[in-house]
Amino acid sequence: MIKVEMTREMFYGIKQNRKIARVTLFHELGHYFHNHHKDGKLDTEEYFQERYDAAKAGKVLQMEQEADLFAADYLGTEYTCEGLREVIDYTRKQAEAGIVTDEEETELAIAELERRIELLKK
Ligand SMILES: [Zn+2]
Repeated sequence: MIKVEMTREMFYGIKQNRKIARVTLFHELGHYFHNHHKDGKLDTEEYFQERYDAAKAGKVLQMEQEADLFAADYLGTEYTCEGLREVIDYTRKQAEAGIVTDEEETELAIAELERRIELLKK
């Protein structure tokens, strides 16, 4: 049995069939499918740092790409790309609302998402 933790916003997003919520859920299930949690690394500060370093270099970590491909297998490539674009919009809104205040972090998160969309379309 796997346990998926999610925010209330995500839970209702899935119930309402929202793209952003479905793509996020299937991306996370992709991590489970590929057993990315096995060494407990996925949720660590170290992993986030690796993601940011990769984003700075215009790259995406392989585990993130694998999770995106899993989502695309179920939801379709175009649908998944649209969901990731909604994540970009959401990230921008969070920054504009002052919920996320680290500008560099926001820019790198968006750059990574844009790169993930490009890679899915290949
Ligand atoms: Zn991920």
